[in-house]
Amino acid sequence: MANLKAVLRWYCRTPRGWRRFPVLLGRNNRIRHTLVMDQGKEVSYPEGRYQILVYEGSRPVYKNAGENAADAMAARDKEAHLLAARLSADNAGAKIVEEEKRTYLRRAAGLYVQDAENRNANEAAEQAELVTNEFMEVSRKTFVDEVAREDIFRFHKTLRDRGCSDRTVANKHARLKSFLRFAGVNPDILPPKPKYEEALPTIYTADESRRILQAADPYMQIVIEMGLKLGLREQELMYAEWTDLDSQESAFRVQGKKFWDFRVKDSEQREIPCPADLLKRLKAWRKKHPNSRLIIGTTSDSPNTHLLRSLKRLAKRSGLNCGKCDGCNSKLNECQGWTLHKLRRTYCTTLLRNGVDLKTVQHYMGHADLASTMRYLRPAVGKESQARINAIQWV
Ligand SMILES: [Zn+2]
Repeated sequence: MANLKAVLRWYCRTPRGWRRFPVLLGRNNRIRHTLVMDQGKEVSYPEGRYQILVYEGSRPVYKNAGENAADAMAARDKEAHLLAARLSADNAGAKIVEEEKRTYLRRAAGLYVQDAENRNANEAAEQAELVTNEFMEVSRKTFVDEVAREDIFRFHKTLRDRGCSDRTVANKHARLKSFLRFAGVNPDILPPKPKYEEALPTIYTADESRRILQAADPYMQIVIEMGLKLGLREQELMYAEWTDLDSQESAFRVQGKKFWDFRVKDSEQREIPCPADLLKRLKAWRKKHPNSRLIIGTTSDSPNTHLLRSLKRLAKRSGLNCGKCDGCNSKLNECQGWTLHKLRRTYCTTLLRNGVDLKTVQHYMGHADLASTMRYLRPAVGKESQARINAIQWV
């Protein structure tokens, strides 16, 4: 017996991680976009997408229905009609023959995203959704078996026209390829990854780091130093708790938090030595905030999701914008040169330049493979290396 239910959920990022909520309807039965009831309160979670919940037998299945409320509603209606049609066919002793041999690209994409979600790989799920949507939009193909080699070339071209760097095109190509393989496209028809010149990872100079730290208030000083001297990822910063810090051993442990539904990338805990000056700063901060759970949470002790924005605003206020990038030239006037990730890159490069061995740096960075760490073996240039070269006795 078919289950006739097809209901919409809003799958969104909350301070406690990704969650699903029933959608809220307003007048005219319209969806109140991004609004949900969370723990008895009406809240807006803008980052998310719609999903249609159906049951295959007693098993719940979530089908992605995009970010647009009207489209999601239409998709849900279509799904409900299909279920109803199957039921009437059942009752009449007939069977609806669906095109089983052909797989819809959209359905394959939904399954692919769901596969990542089932593995709790939220970042991968987001990337998968992004790349599959972009590809469907560009290729305009309905069925998986229609995908041809030229669609992938057109995909590359569109990305370049949109201003994506060669590196981004190559990365998206890899993600697309993994999706198409998942969908059952013959890998032989897929073109190889486009070549690109590997850009050197950019890092902050000691002078830049000093200037932003001088301009920062005590809170932002902690944020910046935890990025610069512990090399933490944005999420790792957001969810850093006092219990992660072992002040006896002067070590910081990166670990998942069930409470926040936060998982460490590649599911590996790691311990990072905390420099003495940062430890001192953290201890002073703790004295002022003796009861908080999070090290750099909000005033209500929940994860601060605006760390990146705060860093950009600080750079802007302090006259540290580069003035040349697209960000600087946009209305917001927020420099692309200031990111938390660049602090992490600076951390990695600085360790390597100071002679910490690759294997140890790999561990501190939480890199799954040595190749990721090796990208940071960037030759030193500038004054410092000049001095070193000059100090060599050549003859
Ligand atoms: Zn800039």
